[in-house]
Amino acid sequence: MPELPEVEVSRQGLLPYLPGRRIAGAVVRAPRLRHAIPSGLAERLRGLYVDDIVRRGKYLLFDCESGRGGGWLILHLGMSGSLRLVPPGSPAQKHDHFDLVFADTAMRLRDPRRFGVLLWHEGRDVERHPLLAVLGIEPLTDAFDGDWLFAAMRRRNAPIKPLLMDSHLLVGVGNIYAAESLFSAGISPLRAANRISRERYGRLAPAIRATLEASIAAGGTSVRDYVHSDGGAGCFQLSCAVYDRAGDPCTVCGTPIRAIRQAGRSTFYCPRCQR
Ligand SMILES: [Zn+2]
Repeated sequence: MPELPEVEVSRQGLLPYLPGRRIAGAVVRAPRLRHAIPSGLAERLRGLYVDDIVRRGKYLLFDCESGRGGGWLILHLGMSGSLRLVPPGSPAQKHDHFDLVFADTAMRLRDPRRFGVLLWHEGRDVERHPLLAVLGIEPLTDAFDGDWLFAAMRRRNAPIKPLLMDSHLLVGVGNIYAAESLFSAGISPLRAANRISRERYGRLAPAIRATLEASIAAGGTSVRDYVHSDGGAGCFQLSCAVYDRAGDPCTVCGTPIRAIRQAGRSTFYCPRCQR
């Protein structure tokens, strides 16, 4: 499943090509993905310029003259989506559900499992869209730090790891990144959130940021006509310290990595390094 780093790499891969370009048209080949694709979307997009592409959580937001009477194309890659730049008019394969067409290139969405999202928000205030208004803080912004985490978690007695993955609190920390960040900060995934000190949150916040940034950097070399890898590899080219390493020796202390189920997800940790 595409995680925040893959989405950010897709954004960075598209940025050199789309902003400043006028949309020549769009091709919608599926009536719905996770939600119905708005009827008339192609007509609405035609002729608008893409001013910018921003990311909110795992959503890509295409600013299509939102400040000048246009709006925002909201795109989410779901479970299996990927974006490519292809020559306009390239034959579509079975799962190629959408093209955003420009004079000399087209952005193509492939989504075999159709859990992606393709919606339109009329006007300026895309952050008020119901899918976006519920999202928590962005971990790659300056506002996210140890003090923020400490304040957000101090009244919560649930284990820390599922809370890190709660997109209403903070976005984009998937299972892999939660596991790796907690190992890096030396915090047990089982520890109650309100039993972690401000000082330890002061280590966890940068660990989350560093884990995401390392993954973005690892994917940042994408070639120009292929702006997103499917993310099938567990760690998106990161070398994981604990994730999916059950029974293997901890890279720090040699203790076998433990695997448990937590809130329905697999959790990996070193019982000695993480307290
Ligand atoms: Zn260890």
